[in-house]
Amino acid sequence: MPFRSFPKVDAVETVDRAAEEAIRTTGIEARLILCTLRHFSRDQSLETARLLERFSGSRVVALDLAADEAGHPIDAHVPAFRWALERGYARTAHAGEATRERLRTRLTGPPRR
Ligand SMILES: [Zn+2]
Repeated sequence: MPFRSFPKVDAVETVDRAAEEAIRTTGIEARLILCTLRHFSRDQSLETARLLERFSGSRVVALDLAADEAGHPIDAHVPAFRWALERGYARTAHAGEATRERLRTRLTGPPRR
């Protein structure tokens, strides 16, 4: 069967529903982090960030950045992280796993734990 992508909204909805069900049946709390990927374009990354707003009130709470940092600098993702920062969403990013890139001030703002 050939690979077919489906809308991100459907993917998030499906996982959010599964998380809700798992929380209800296990009593274990969980939250979801939406992950944008290094090889995504600026617009794809922003689209991922904007899902935070669309899923406001759900288990979705934060934006993450992952994938091949060696081949893809953060520049395309700065607007998405700024968007999330300005709206008070939690942010996280994989960094320093393959390069010595410094992300803190460019993407995530000051640390919040
Ligand atoms: Zn991650």
